[in-house]
Amino acid sequence: MKHPARIFKEAIMHLFKKPATCGYPFEKAKVMPNFRGRIDFDSSKCIGCQMCVRVCPAKAIEIKLSAEQPPAPAPVEGQPAAPVKKKFDCIMKLDRCVYCWQCAETCPKKALIMTQDFELAHVDRKELRRHYK
Ligand code: SF4
Ligand code: SF4
Repeated sequence: MKHPARIFKEAIMHLFKKPATCGYPFEKAKVMPNFRGRIDFDSSKCIGCQMCVRVCPAKAIEIKLSAEQPPAPAPVEGQPAAPVKKKFDCIMKLDRCVYCWQCAETCPKKALIMTQDFELAHVDRKELRRHYK
């Protein structure tokens, strides 16, 4: 057992030390710079190659054609018709994802964006299925 004088000295010292914990959720939590959080999706960059789907170890990502496709570009006289760029949606199952970032590191178009968002808990499981358009 510690001597009361030592306990008192330690207590006084701790009054002037920075706290080891933070006030989360009342204060914004600081995460490490390499913290892996939720993956975001930029539909304008996706080409639908499915590489992210193939590398995902948790089968947490789905890429499918969007219900609404952009209109075909107007034809230019004397030139072959320009190819129509298809639009894709991403369905991310956050309850399956293991946040390995493998999909984002593999994407050749940088359409999957790595974020540090970690506040993903939800009482409704359906909310963990994010549909990015
Ligand atoms: S971060 Fe990993 S587990 Fe999550 S969707 Fe991407 S590849 Fe799959
Ligand atoms: S998000 Fe990237 S890897 Fe996945 S289908 Fe689109 S372009 Fe391909």
